[in-house]
Amino acid sequence: MVAAGFGDMLGKYTSLFDWKVGHAIGGEDYDPYVAKLTAMALAECVANVEAIGDRTPAGIETLTRALIVSGLAMLIFGQSHSASGAEHHLSHYWEMELLRTGRRQVLHGAKVGAACAVIAEHYRIWLGQAAEPQASGPAAALALRLGDRLPEIAGWLGELPDASRIRELLRIAGGPALPEALGIGAELVARSLREADEIRPGRKTLLRLINGRP
Ligand SMILES: [Zn+2]
Repeated sequence: MVAAGFGDMLGKYTSLFDWKVGHAIGGEDYDPYVAKLTAMALAECVANVEAIGDRTPAGIETLTRALIVSGLAMLIFGQSHSASGAEHHLSHYWEMELLRTGRRQVLHGAKVGAACAVIAEHYRIWLGQAAEPQASGPAAALALRLGDRLPEIAGWLGELPDASRIRELLRIAGGPALPEALGIGAELVARSLREADEIRPGRKTLLRLINGRP
């Protein structure tokens, strides 16, 4: 449960990114104070990942405080944007599939942590393809959608740890880092990347823009 709590906090990397994208491209409301509160809680967790992995009292206190602050930040804003983006939609999609097929459930935060790395990698690939001058097909459509904000958005993603670092942090915290370790296979991961934004159609995540939906 400690590793899952840490995984849910790591998910703030991509949820905060998606919130900025939703504000820049989708006209969603944004609150810099709420975003900063959440980012500070996340940074404190990451800075103390060794203590959290070692289950020291100070580490557990840091993690617990960060989760509470992240929850309070959501309450201040009145919506979940700061703490829940495409990584949560992926997690919910996997959860629904496990329920549908009668399989054993996996802790929410364990799924969110693994999904955060999947989303970070997916976004890096798509923004790279969209930025290429000869981009075609869905990548060109994404470039068109992001318009002159594309370099700025790619810069925001560049500020995040990459997928391998996210997985390393999950391992230090003592949790699984890959979906397969949670019983989530490659086919389900690929399908969730194509469909999970439909769980929350009103939320303008980059995943929704990649999938070409309004
Ligand atoms: Zn969560």
